[in-house]
Amino acid sequence: MKQQINTAQQDANAKLKLMETFGNTSFDRPYFAEICDTPLTGAFKKKAVVHAGLGGSPVPQEKTAEVWHTLSKIQRQGKTSAYIHIPFCSTHCLYCGFFANPSQKDNMQAYAKALIRELEADQDLDLVQSHPVNAVYLGGGTPTALESNDLKQVLDTVRRCLPLANDCEITVEGRISDLTEEKIQACIKGGANRFSLGVQTFDTGIRTGLGRVKDRQTVVERLLRLKQTNHAAIIIDLIFGLPDQTMAIWENDIDTFLDLELDGVDLYQLIRFPGGRLDKAVRSGRFKTLADQTQRALMFEAGVNRMTLARYRRLSISHWGRKFRERNRYNLAMREKADCLAYGSGAGGNVNGHMVFLDGNLGTYLETAGKTKPVTRIITPPAHNRLACLISGSLELGYMDLRGAGRQLGLDLETIFAPLTDQWEKAGLITREQGWITLTLAGQFWQTNLAQGMIDYYEQTSTA
Ligand code: SF4
Repeated sequence: MKQQINTAQQDANAKLKLMETFGNTSFDRPYFAEICDTPLTGAFKKKAVVHAGLGGSPVPQEKTAEVWHTLSKIQRQGKTSAYIHIPFCSTHCLYCGFFANPSQKDNMQAYAKALIRELEADQDLDLVQSHPVNAVYLGGGTPTALESNDLKQVLDTVRRCLPLANDCEITVEGRISDLTEEKIQACIKGGANRFSLGVQTFDTGIRTGLGRVKDRQTVVERLLRLKQTNHAAIIIDLIFGLPDQTMAIWENDIDTFLDLELDGVDLYQLIRFPGGRLDKAVRSGRFKTLADQTQRALMFEAGVNRMTLARYRRLSISHWGRKFRERNRYNLAMREKADCLAYGSGAGGNVNGHMVFLDGNLGTYLETAGKTKPVTRIITPPAHNRLACLISGSLELGYMDLRGAGRQLGLDLETIFAPLTDQWEKAGLITREQGWITLTLAGQFWQTNLAQGMIDYYEQTSTA
């Protein structure tokens, strides 16, 4: 899975874990920035890693089924995604805090069948059938860990049971090491039109140290082979701030991506979980270097500059597309907290502002899937949910129309946020023009802090 939790609905357990690890209690979240000469590196003490807009109240356990029953009758109206979670990985990458289950053939076959049962059981719900689905995302874990036949059957069931829009984006997330010819063909025949692959780095030495299996040459060859199929957008993730990754290695990673002329790339920062395997390895002295916050900020800047020079279209703060095949629909919809139908053990979704989490226990999921919706937790939206969604979705694009958003909500947002936006403008994080705020390069690096800062500021000043 993406270690950047930009696809916040992917793994519900991962999201909860992030909230617990980096949430309000452990992260100091001042909304005013430091005024300094170098805002890119010094505007805040610490970069936020949990995306903005979290909040709301958990539904009591005994009411969960009843609330889900009500949600399942909702007639959807807006943009919608579907998220299908595949919680298996063949190896446990060192930096990953979300490994759930080893790829074990019998379990994975039973899981594919359970997933199909769940999709079929839900197919007639008003919630499912009332409106087109614009994006489907098979994420994990590692969807490509499934056998080709199972992958094809899951994708066929998705297309049969969900009302997909004609131009629906259908993404399969995967690992290079799984991408056999048979699996590529299974995905394409199943309707996949987008592959999202966690390359992370092309550097063989760093890959090996992180538990990634294939070397640079194999990664490049497999990406080129996938590209030749010409059936789907090919997107890769690259991480900056990896152990022993120098600026030269990072720039080489980006240049390799550019040379391959793939359709899109996500450039994002390594998350180091306190007490996690990577954290322990770093503390034990296993690596020579690990970029500090200043170096990571400079790596972000180098990434933006290289992608800009190469004339890639910027689709979000961390995502770029080459020409027009890449749309990045699912990820952008998640930032806006659009409706998301969830399927699979450990999946998370959104329904009418409610966050819905499915059973992360593989054993109980296999037993219940298809008989009853395996919802284990629901969080109701906070009072300011619409504003939080607008802030999160807009700043992800690097700007926000405060005046227009205020009109939608019946609030004078320019005045409400003026103390904050005045200060951020002085701090070099934003510019302002006719009700719009636009993030500077420094503001883009600190975008999550800014989005969370606006939400926190509104919460605190509106209830004062
Ligand atoms: S493939 Fe690696 S990074 Fe992705 S979920 Fe599995 S262990 Fe984590």
